[in-house]
Amino acid sequence: MKKGKKLYEGKAKIIFATNDKKLAIQHFKDEATAFNNKKKSKIDGKGILNNRISEHILSNLNQIGIKNHLVKRINMREQLIKIVEIIPIEFIVRNISAGSLSKRLGIEDGTVLDSPLIEYCYKSDDLGDPLISKEHIYNFKWATKKEIEKIEKNLYRINDFMIGMFRGVGIKLVDFKLEFGRLNKNGKKEIILADEISPDTCRLWDIHTEKKLDKDRFRNDLGNLLGAYKDVARRLGILHEESNIKPVIFSKLRSVKIKKNK
Ligand code: C5P
Repeated sequence: MKKGKKLYEGKAKIIFATNDKKLAIQHFKDEATAFNNKKKSKIDGKGILNNRISEHILSNLNQIGIKNHLVKRINMREQLIKIVEIIPIEFIVRNISAGSLSKRLGIEDGTVLDSPLIEYCYKSDDLGDPLISKEHIYNFKWATKKEIEKIEKNLYRINDFMIGMFRGVGIKLVDFKLEFGRLNKNGKKEIILADEISPDTCRLWDIHTEKKLDKDRFRNDLGNLLGAYKDVARRLGILHEESNIKPVIFSKLRSVKIKKNK
């Protein structure tokens, strides 16, 4: 697979073309951003961990029949993905109140919700990804009713699966964000899961201590983001060695003189 030109650069990822027009390469950067790009930093190794964690979750979802854009992970920072037409909506699923929900409605952080709550945001950096209703989606034709019905079914299934997966390793799945896209399949458009699922896009709390193991460590200056992401990867059984997240640096080869035995 040949890597082609850059198609798109986002805050945390770059998409490159390949010699197959149906496939692209998704590159995970180390950049961390929050509050609509107002807070920025570079955290060495974050992209490597997100690549591995997202690969793990998406391939597990594929095994339970949730179709998604992942073809395979290629290297430490890159995955081969199917090219889709992204629906311009961020689908947020919440199990416990935190973040913008707590702030917006004055609900105490950590309040367990009676049932999963789905929220929709319009993907627009200029507008700060505003919260919208389903009526906005239909009115502005961002997606059809049929598409949203299919996505919602997937959201509940993905949520059930991920709650179980994380609970099994001592983590509460507080909330997360998903994106979906349209895949062109023999002239027909099929909705599949796209983007990434990682501690950048989920809120993950330790079950016992409620320690935050996600991007809130960066948003709220809690420190040691990498340590938290590594902990998530280790618990999921992805990361076994420290060396796994460090890029190998090759030093210049030097010739070695061998003394001949006389
Ligand atoms: O900020 P808020 O509480 O609305 O975020 C809800 C969830 O969606 C969090 O897990 C957050 O990490 C994720 N999210 C995201 N990308 C955004 C907005 C929110 O991954 N642009």
